[in-house]
Amino acid sequence: MSKIIYVAIGNEILIGKTINTNESFIGMQLTSAGLPLGISMTIKDDKKMILKTLGHCWEHYDVVIVSGGLGPTHDDVTKYAIAEFFKKKLIFNNSAWSAIKKMYEAKNVPIPEIVRTQAEIPQGFTALPNKTGTAPGLYFTENNKHFFALPGVPSEMKNMFVYHVFPKLKRTLSVNPIYQKTIRTIGIPESTIFTKTIDVKETSITKIAFLPKSGMVDIRVYGTSEQEVKEIINRLLENIPPKNIYGFDDDTIVETFHKKMVTSGKTVSAAESCTGGLIQSLITDNAGSSDYFLGGVVSYSNEAKMNLLGVKETTLEKFGAVSEETVREMVYGVQKLMGSDYAIAVSGIAGPGGGTENKPVGLVYIGTFGKSGIVIKKNNLSGSRLEVKNKTALTALFQLDV
Ligand code: ATP
Ligand code: MG
Repeated sequence: MSKIIYVAIGNEILIGKTINTNESFIGMQLTSAGLPLGISMTIKDDKKMILKTLGHCWEHYDVVIVSGGLGPTHDDVTKYAIAEFFKKKLIFNNSAWSAIKKMYEAKNVPIPEIVRTQAEIPQGFTALPNKTGTAPGLYFTENNKHFFALPGVPSEMKNMFVYHVFPKLKRTLSVNPIYQKTIRTIGIPESTIFTKTIDVKETSITKIAFLPKSGMVDIRVYGTSEQEVKEIINRLLENIPPKNIYGFDDDTIVETFHKKMVTSGKTVSAAESCTGGLIQSLITDNAGSSDYFLGGVVSYSNEAKMNLLGVKETTLEKFGAVSEETVREMVYGVQKLMGSDYAIAVSGIAGPGGGTENKPVGLVYIGTFGKSGIVIKKNNLSGSRLEVKNKTALTALFQLDV
C-alpha cells in the first residue's frame, strides 16, 4: 500500500489559533478511497524546517501532500523551500498568470505587483488551478512518487484536492476501498462498551474503533468488504443494549428524535430549567418541527415553575427545584399547559457553582411523558456548564419514548 504523508505548514496551527481542518478533510477523503493517510504533521513557516521535513518525506513516502504558505506575502515561504529542495528554478508560468489575472478582473480590482510572483512555478512542476483563490497549487512526480503543495485556505485546498489531487492519486495508485459503519451510542461509558465488544482479528484495515465524545460513544467498524463490516456490526449489536443506540453513521439524536416524532403523529412540549431553552432550540433546528412541537416554557425560577407549570410550593420546599418530584410536576404541568400528547422536562445543576454534597454539579433530573407513560431519570453529568446543558438536552430528547 502506498505510504502517504500530509504536512500542514503554519505557525498559526502550532500556536493553536487555527484548527487543522485540512488534516481531517484530507484524512477522510483519502480513507474513503482506500488510500489511508499514514502520518500527518504540522511544522512552522520556516524555510529551514520545511527543507528538513521535505528531505525526510520525499525519502520515506510515496505521496507527500503539503498545505499552507503558498501566498505572496513575506511569511509565505513554502514555494521557495520546495524549489530549493527539488533544485528547480522558478519559471514564470503563463497559464497560471492568466488564471490569476482572470480572478482579479472578475473582482474588478487592480492586480498588486506582488501577486505576479504567484505565477512563478518550479521548473518541471505542474500548476494546479485554484478555483477560489490566486495561489496555484504545485504538483511534481518522479520515480512513482507524487508531491503536492496546496494552499492553506481550507476552501481553496478542498477544491484543489477534490478536482486535481484526488483524481491523480486514484488514477495512479492501487486502491483498496475501506468500508466502514458506525454505531452511535449514548449513556453507556466507553469502558463498559469495551467489555461488551467482540473478538475480531484486526488487520491494517479491519478494526473496531471507540470514539467517545461528550457522554456519547461512536463505535466505528472498518473492513475490507461491506459483508465483513455488516457481520461485525451484527455481532456487536447482539451485545449493546438497544436502549443505548441512537443511530448509525451520520444520524444525530436531534434528527432521530425528529423522524420518530413525525412518524408518530403525536405532539410534544417542553419545560426547561437548567437548559434555558436549548431543548426547544434543538427541536426547532429541524425543518418541519412545527408538525409536532407545540411549544414550552423556560421555567428557570421557582416562581415560573409554580406560576406557569403549577409546580406546588410544598414540593419545591420539601424536595427542592432539582428533584424527581419537581420534574414530575413540570412534565405534567407543561403537558397540560400546551395540550400536547407527550412532554419533556428537565431541572438540574449545570454549575460551576451551586452544587452541594447531596446535590452536586451535574445532577440533572430528566422527565419525559411518552408512549409508555412517565419516566423520570436521575443523571450525574460531567463537564463544563455548557457541556452539562448540552448533554442534558440530548439525553432528554433521546429519553422520550416515542
Ligand atoms: P494565502 O494566499 O491566503 O496567504 P496560503 O496558502 O499562504 O494562503 P496560509 O497563509 O498558510 O496559506 O493560510 C491561509 C489561511 O488558511 C489562514 O487563515 C490559516 O489560518 C488557514 N489555514 C492554513 N492552514 C490550515 C489548515 N491546515 N487547516 C485549517 N486552516 C488552515
Ligand atoms: Mg499565507
